[in-house]
Amino acid sequence: MADYDVIIIGGGPGGYVCAIRCAQLGLKTACVEGRETLGGTCLNVGCIPSKALLHASHSLHEAEHNFAKMGLKGKSPSVDWKQMLAYKDDVIGQNTKGIEFLFKKNKVDWLKGWGSIPAAGQVKVGDEVHKAKHIVIASGSEPSSLPGVEVDEKVVVTSTGALELPKVPKKMVVIGAGVIGLEMGSVYARLGAEVTVVEYLDMITPGMDKDLAKTFQRALKKQGLSFVMGAAVQSVDAKKTKATVNYKLRKDDSDHTIDADVVLVATGRRPYVDGLGLDALGVKMTERGQIATDHWKTSVDGIWAIGDVIEGPMLAHKAEDEGMAVAEAIAGQAGHVNYDVIPGVVYTAPEVASVGKTEEQLKEDGRAYKVGKFSFMGNGRAKAVFQGDGFVKILADKDTDRVLGVHIMGPAAGELIHEACVLMEFGGSAEDLARTCHAHPTFSEAVREAALACGDGAIHA
Ligand code: FAD
Repeated sequence: MADYDVIIIGGGPGGYVCAIRCAQLGLKTACVEGRETLGGTCLNVGCIPSKALLHASHSLHEAEHNFAKMGLKGKSPSVDWKQMLAYKDDVIGQNTKGIEFLFKKNKVDWLKGWGSIPAAGQVKVGDEVHKAKHIVIASGSEPSSLPGVEVDEKVVVTSTGALELPKVPKKMVVIGAGVIGLEMGSVYARLGAEVTVVEYLDMITPGMDKDLAKTFQRALKKQGLSFVMGAAVQSVDAKKTKATVNYKLRKDDSDHTIDADVVLVATGRRPYVDGLGLDALGVKMTERGQIATDHWKTSVDGIWAIGDVIEGPMLAHKAEDEGMAVAEAIAGQAGHVNYDVIPGVVYTAPEVASVGKTEEQLKEDGRAYKVGKFSFMGNGRAKAVFQGDGFVKILADKDTDRVLGVHIMGPAAGELIHEACVLMEFGGSAEDLARTCHAHPTFSEAVREAALACGDGAIHA
């Protein structure tokens, strides 16, 4: 048993980043993690494995659809699903071991096991009680389902089960057109499954700029995904190897069914606080079951919370930023997260990325704005790699030209968005971006052209 300055509960992107930063700031630090490996949802069953499968299935798509056009002829590769899963597991292993190495390097103690907080200043792991001046809860989230839908992780699966199906299903129904459902749906569609996405709302990816969401849905349809919109799923009847999804169309209350070999329930995630003992401690929660915080402080002195378990977007980089900010706050520094500049990326092909305000939000705020839009069809590099589908859209203040939001669908959108993030962090204008020299031929030129379109006009439009 040792006394610590800080004990962090949870070794995901929020927790492990917080632990490393605490140690770098000279605090004696431990991190409690109950899983066999560090890295949390993100590295084990989230961001990283899904991106590995997206990469593998996208490579197949390229071989099937674009190789011959470039004069690369021959049989397209066939799918060895076992090997694809092994590749994904290897990627997970490399990343989780990397965090273990970083803990050793920074002298962070990994307390293996499930932690609870018997009292402020104490963390219990197994039979041992460790003392800490500060406790940071970074216990993350878990998939949530719908009433009437029982998950067995075989036929009716969450994203966790969808990352390790025994085989590629012939027919898959995805309940929920959010980021996770669309990413996993497009993986299986590329691998040959017939994928139908059933969504309660009339729009995919709720909260996304509508213009972008519509173009994105069109691109997914072109790739073979089907959508049933405005559909309220009532129940799923699962048998051993098949399932039937029962839903009502909201517009006329009519009943429908759809059969599948696998149903992926991707209806969101809920904060995970099981076993921490928060009730007894009197830690205040929000109505949505998150830990209530004020600048990451909970209602109990000396206990902090970050990441998916508190409010805000459930994203790894948001959790990481909060992890660093809390470490700095504990060490007596300022600790800051700019919640107005947190990018969101969908790693489909084409990628979709957004930061800042959507047009709908600006209208609601009554803010006068201008739009600069540029199609990737006018970008030579994008056309060379068959990725002319999509656009960059910049929303800037009508009077000051300050950039308020950027929305991109197209090649490397998830990388391009950071040009906008840096600009927005510095309160930059569309003209600042437009006057910055961009290398040719790059996808980034499309961002500059959209900025030019906010002023006197794009060149290649
Ligand atoms: P988590 O990563 O959930 O980590 C919490 C950890 O705490 C877990 O390892 C858990 O075992 C541990 N824990 C909980 N309670 C205890 C306890 N009492 N004792 C010990 N350990 C405990 N986000 C992105 O930004 N980009 C993406 O591309 C992306 N893709 C995703 C794809 C999928 C399929 C999923 C499911 C999620 C994805 N996310 C993505 C979301 C991202 O994974 C989460 O936002 C992120 O992991 C949250 O980090 P966290 O540290 O708050 O919690």
